[in-house]
Amino acid sequence: MLRPRYIPPEDIFPPNPWAFEAVHYDARLARELTGQAETMFALSNGYLGIRGAVEEGTPVREAGTYLNGFYEHRPISYGEHAYGFPRIGQSILNCPNGTVLKLFVDDEPFVVPRAEILDYRRSLDLRAGTLNRDVRWVTPTGKRLHMRTVRLVSLAHRHLAAIEFELTAEDADVEVAVSSELENARPLNADTTDPRLAEGFIGRVLHPTGTRSAGLRALLSYRTASSGLSLGCGMDHSVSTECSVLTQLSCDDDVAVALFRCKLERNKPLRIRKYLSYHYSDIVDPEEILAQTASTLDRATRSGFEQISERQRSDVERFWARADVTVESENLRTQQTIRWNLFQLLQASERAEGHGIGARGLTGRTYEGHYFWDTEIYVLPFIIYTNPAIARSVLKFRYDMLDKARARARELGHRGATFPWRTINGEEASAYYAAGTAQYHINADIAYALRKYVEVTGDQAFLWNYGAEMLIETARLWFDLGFFSDAKGGLFCINGVTGPDEYTAIVNNNCFTNLMARENLRYAVKTVGTLERLHPDLFNRLAARTGLDRAEIVQWGEAADRMYLPYDARLKIHPQDDDFLDLERWDFASTSEDDYPLLLHYHPLNLYRSQVIKQADTVMAMFLFGSHFTQDEKRRNFEYYDPLTTHDSSLSVCIQSIIANEIRFDRKAIEYFDFAAAMDMSDIGGNMMHGAHIAAIGGTWLALVYGFAGLRDDDGRISFNPILPEAWSALKFVLTVRGQTLRIEIDHVSATYRLLNGERFDFSHAGEECVLSAAEPVLTCAVGPLPAGAGRGGGLD
Ligand code: BGC
Repeated sequence: MLRPRYIPPEDIFPPNPWAFEAVHYDARLARELTGQAETMFALSNGYLGIRGAVEEGTPVREAGTYLNGFYEHRPISYGEHAYGFPRIGQSILNCPNGTVLKLFVDDEPFVVPRAEILDYRRSLDLRAGTLNRDVRWVTPTGKRLHMRTVRLVSLAHRHLAAIEFELTAEDADVEVAVSSELENARPLNADTTDPRLAEGFIGRVLHPTGTRSAGLRALLSYRTASSGLSLGCGMDHSVSTECSVLTQLSCDDDVAVALFRCKLERNKPLRIRKYLSYHYSDIVDPEEILAQTASTLDRATRSGFEQISERQRSDVERFWARADVTVESENLRTQQTIRWNLFQLLQASERAEGHGIGARGLTGRTYEGHYFWDTEIYVLPFIIYTNPAIARSVLKFRYDMLDKARARARELGHRGATFPWRTINGEEASAYYAAGTAQYHINADIAYALRKYVEVTGDQAFLWNYGAEMLIETARLWFDLGFFSDAKGGLFCINGVTGPDEYTAIVNNNCFTNLMARENLRYAVKTVGTLERLHPDLFNRLAARTGLDRAEIVQWGEAADRMYLPYDARLKIHPQDDDFLDLERWDFASTSEDDYPLLLHYHPLNLYRSQVIKQADTVMAMFLFGSHFTQDEKRRNFEYYDPLTTHDSSLSVCIQSIIANEIRFDRKAIEYFDFAAAMDMSDIGGNMMHGAHIAAIGGTWLALVYGFAGLRDDDGRISFNPILPEAWSALKFVLTVRGQTLRIEIDHVSATYRLLNGERFDFSHAGEECVLSAAEPVLTCAVGPLPAGAGRGGGLD
């Protein structure tokens, strides 16, 4: 059931369009929202992620520090094992926490809930790329102190985080001690009743392999027992003050502490700059990892905090120049929410090179840091249009797991490659096959994203060098998985799969999956054909490497052309799968609000035997394959599936909003959009304390750009069909297409397209062909009035 669990009160969390901030301290809220705040204030660069726990270290819910792809194996235990069930899972690890700077004033520990606060502000500055804190308080002995911290996870140096800590005694001299720590805490416990959370580990996971310390620097190193990864982490400091300071460093296997004792004189601040470095590797030894960690610290101390934070600001500025989306509306929260979401996309992806993008980015351990289809279908479109180099790297990361996907296909008795439903290291880590391995659509999702990448960026070389091989192997899989069914008039059927809707599992002919497979097969046929024509040498090498046989290319084409796509002539809708319409409708009237998400309250079998949907499935197919459905079909399908959809997955409402837009259910479109955008800010799923929902965040961008602006990019042809919600007066954004930058500004009467750089840009607006060129870079087109009788209704019940 969709409902905001939390509406940030404006007097505490003002709707600043360039910051998410708390401007007062409210003890009750702070207590209740500790975990949520750690997610909202998390910092990351796509490689290193640090949750927003406070510097004092208390109160804390989950002070996570994560490195993309840094994981340990864990055995998956089943009550009953069966052939092909993955035996070894992977879980992202919480690394030693370096954010702690405990403060003692006249020997008393400072923690905000115990202090008499005068002023308080905590702010995620979306322009500076920093998390800032400003606190003034009175000590029990009546002295006023002012603490300022600035924390960042560097976008420029992906192994680096830095904190500036400044303390001023405003009206009297005071004795202070600051204990700056780097601590390898015990593994976090898991809440085992929620299957979405990460499994915990019992016992030690990071085994110490050596420490180094000198001056104000300490380095710790570890090795994981099973995944064989070495980790190095370190801290270094610089201190500046006119007051006298004594420093002392201690370091053992799990804790390093730099202690600063200072006689703080009135109005003479103590400033400590703390630099943190994290490295990990599967090949280098502990000595080397310590050297790498030290070298990041050398570089950071040489640059200094000012230079690092200036660079951060300019990197973030560059991001906004290529990726900002502006919405003009009287509700200022809308812009703030959109920017916070976009900032999360920057944080999840910017320096993810060589890795995937986890379902929670690096803001929490939910789903164990695994990469799912979320990346390809929800996040990659944004990255493709704003940062093609990272999009390429994320797809290349999939290519790099192709051998493991081939091995998994062999294990499952298939030809070709079977990419894992969820993974870190390329191996299938899903323990529940019905909602895991059976989601074969992941293979076609990768192919779909590959095609979008190639068409939008024009990077043919990637297609020839990597993409073609992925397409061959995934096409092989589909051909092997399906068959020409006599029962279905010789059409190609794919049985025993699960589509995106995880409340309906192991079905025959899931409409979404069959459409995706058809697209995958067709793109494979087209790609190998073009490769052979344009680059016969490359083609021959690829054919030799993959054992490609011409007959199979013909078969793929036949399977695609004769793909069975379920259609019900009586209801004139596309059944989600062969049996979906035979199921009994879920009894929504008798389901209490507290029973959502259903997955936490009903056995899967109850869900599987009912018409009840977790997330957009056929509606998703209508988004990805718009041209396969008529406008009437889209409306009928939406009207049929929408009331059955619980949106128990955060991946649902953004897609629902896009299709609602297309069929002019305008009220639904904006209501669903608002839910998608506020998924974390209003904690719609009730679990944002465990991390930000990166797919919903990517989906928010999809709903803005594909929804309200009506972008479509089928076959690489760009078209727009904008419809602005009544409550907004303008929507503005930038896209990069084949190296050219386009700025789009939409209001209720017109859409203005501006070529910011580039020679020629062809697109269509509301069905009319348009061209922008260097000579005529601006075009303003009318945004049509509502067609008579167009659905304005369709609000959420
Ligand atoms: C959704 C999947 C998604 C996964 C990770 C599940 O709840 O049903 O579609 O991939 O979460 O976000």
